[in-house]
Amino acid sequence: MLYDILIIGGGPAGLAAAIYGLRANKSVLVIEKQNFGGQIIESKNVVNYPGFKEISGMELGSSMYEQAKELGMEEKYGEVLEIKKEASKFIVKTKKEEFYSQTVILATGSKTKMLDLENERNLIGKGISYCATCDGAFFKDGVVAVIGGGNTAIEDCLYLANLCQKVYLIHRRDTFRAEAKKVELLKTKKNVEFYLDSVVEKLIGKDSLEEIVIQNVKNNKKTTLKVDGLFVAIGRVANTTLVENLINLASDRTVEADDSTKTNIEGLFVAGDVRQKKIRQLTTATADGTIAAMMAINFLENN
Ligand code: NAP
Repeated sequence: MLYDILIIGGGPAGLAAAIYGLRANKSVLVIEKQNFGGQIIESKNVVNYPGFKEISGMELGSSMYEQAKELGMEEKYGEVLEIKKEASKFIVKTKKEEFYSQTVILATGSKTKMLDLENERNLIGKGISYCATCDGAFFKDGVVAVIGGGNTAIEDCLYLANLCQKVYLIHRRDTFRAEAKKVELLKTKKNVEFYLDSVVEKLIGKDSLEEIVIQNVKNNKKTTLKVDGLFVAIGRVANTTLVENLINLASDRTVEADDSTKTNIEGLFVAGDVRQKKIRQLTTATADGTIAAMMAINFLENN
């Protein structure tokens, strides 16, 4: 089967692209590695997606998926290992299968950044986590630390403050990227202690994380905190390994493409967090998905 549009990644960008493609009567296959809905399914509350005053990320992600399914989206689970363009068609390979399409939309999103500290990898799942909503319950009534000053870190702290005895927020500056309203709310929580202008310097623990050493970047003072868990929320890196030898990447490893979502390869479009851009939000991901689908439809009609 030769699909009209093959979408890699079933997050908000990929699903928005699928909805637009299907409504234009195009055949659409979406290949997803893990979970349809993408990163938002880890968000407990989404409060900035127009039309929903408050909705859980899981519910929003599921309804995007249901909407695309009802329109006739075909789906496959698997990790795409290779994309090749031969003559006028794309060949997309997973471990087990090969798919053919006239256009491809890359919507592979991003993954969490690591601290790159010694011992970090050894302690993943043994005290270190990158997803508070996934792993927070393991630390019920315990003492945890969260690193970062963005929306993810602040939301993680708010979530963990309801579960844990004590939460330390460690952030390398004294101002936040996160929404001011969220930070204000966090400051009202009695069991949350802020360590600002501070970075984690050392992770201590053999079989599981026991202590972290943090350093104040202004006065160099070191503090050792006993913790049961550490949640790293310091941002994300684009999932572009798959295409690093195929399309132009920017220095931060996102795909070089402007708002048109066109890459340097004809018929290959890029949408969502994986694209080089300034603002990465749910709304900008779905906007990208919309544009990429319209561009793919236009390409199909003119080639
Ligand atoms: P982010 O906004 O990029 O924030 C990353 C934070 O980690 C920043 O405070 C940054 O510090 C810090 N950081 C980066 N590298 C570090 C390092 N090596 N060591 C210590 N700290 C480090 O990432 P995010 O919070 O994951 O959010 C990603 C995007 O998703 C954002 O656009 C965010 O608004 C959005 N988001 C939205 C919602 C929502 O609206 N409900 C929820 C979650 C995420 P500096 O500030 O000093 O650079």
